[in-house]
Amino acid sequence: MDMTHQTVPLSSMHAGRQAGLDVELRNVSKFFGGEMAVGGIDLDVRAGEFFSILGPSGCGKTTILRMIAGFETPTSGDLLVQGRLMTQIPPYQRPVNTVFQSYALFSHLNVESNIAFGLKIQNLSRGEIQTRVRDSLKLVRLDALAKRFPSQLSGGQQQRVALARALINRPAVLLLDEPLGALDLKLRKEMQLELTRLHRELKMTFVMVTHDQEEALSMSDRIAVVADGKIEQVGTPSQIYDRPQSQFVAEFIGDANLIPGKIEGSHPSMLWIQTDDGQKLQVQPIQTGDRPLTSGRVMVNVRPEKIQLLRSQPQPDSNRPLNCYEGSIVEVMYLGTHINCVVKTRSGLSLVVRQPTTTDALTIPGPVYLAWTPQDCLAISHS
Ligand code: ATP
Repeated sequence: MDMTHQTVPLSSMHAGRQAGLDVELRNVSKFFGGEMAVGGIDLDVRAGEFFSILGPSGCGKTTILRMIAGFETPTSGDLLVQGRLMTQIPPYQRPVNTVFQSYALFSHLNVESNIAFGLKIQNLSRGEIQTRVRDSLKLVRLDALAKRFPSQLSGGQQQRVALARALINRPAVLLLDEPLGALDLKLRKEMQLELTRLHRELKMTFVMVTHDQEEALSMSDRIAVVADGKIEQVGTPSQIYDRPQSQFVAEFIGDANLIPGKIEGSHPSMLWIQTDDGQKLQVQPIQTGDRPLTSGRVMVNVRPEKIQLLRSQPQPDSNRPLNCYEGSIVEVMYLGTHINCVVKTRSGLSLVVRQPTTTDALTIPGPVYLAWTPQDCLAISHS
């Protein structure tokens, strides 16, 4: 916990501060023994943003967070918080605080003593401690439960105490390590809203580690997708979802239909792809990397919700090009809010199509046609 910061009201914590970078990683690597956990990454977190580090288990995301917190030392590279090099700065002197998945509350202390703990060892006056604990309790809406012990609280309430305790020291950056990982789905959704509200009210920089792509998409200003200790892509939720730059990001974020093929022709407004299963597809080019994609092997990515499922073959229309596959439905999965159908195409692909639960196209036997526009798919470079 940070114990070195001057006292300012929570509400005015960042008033007047220049917009800039709160966290910078410059070519940071971390090795445990001979094993690379983080491999030479560069990362900028802007002041005031809700930034998520997203990736599968073991990809190195917690190690990145722990290096920012000071619990791990980078093997090489520079790490700066608010422009200050952190190399020699111990965790308790960094302007950051961490909320852990496990809450890490003191079971023998009640809620207000848990929250006040960090302030008591700073030798603040009783009155000051009381005011700040009261402010913090109000912030996380736990005013009524101040005298309870952790064992008398629900998981969500315990996580609120952990949040209040991390916020009371007024860090510049709040680090959240899978903060909602221990909660059931309903509570998790509630706490997602709560965290978003806190972020909006405090205008503080939040850096959250999560493996839950939906959580990252719904809560973050920007997301870094990490795989095998490297950053695959950094972007806004819509950039990450609509313009994945790699097959890994396309598959990790949401559902993807990936169709391998080769660029046969290109124009600034269209790519013509010959797929490995013998189909010709048209894709609107979107610059996802440094240079526009004009040749080579690609994966065409079309999201299940972008595909229309038709009962009759769409007629060619030169004004409105359409990609089309003929096939038959081989599987139907009812998912409450929608239905996923697996369609086996005549060319041998399995494509997933999302349909509303009200659709009647599924009940009629016979072939189906899958259609989507060039604007509704994306070509990703693929070696
Ligand atoms: P999870 O979501 O499962 O927590 P993660 O993406 O946060 O995974 P890290 O905890 O950062 O991944 O771990 C990255 C790699 O580094 C893993 O292979 C892990 O086994 C290894 N690792 C992490 N901490 C240590 C340590 N203290 N000693 C040795 N290896 C470690």
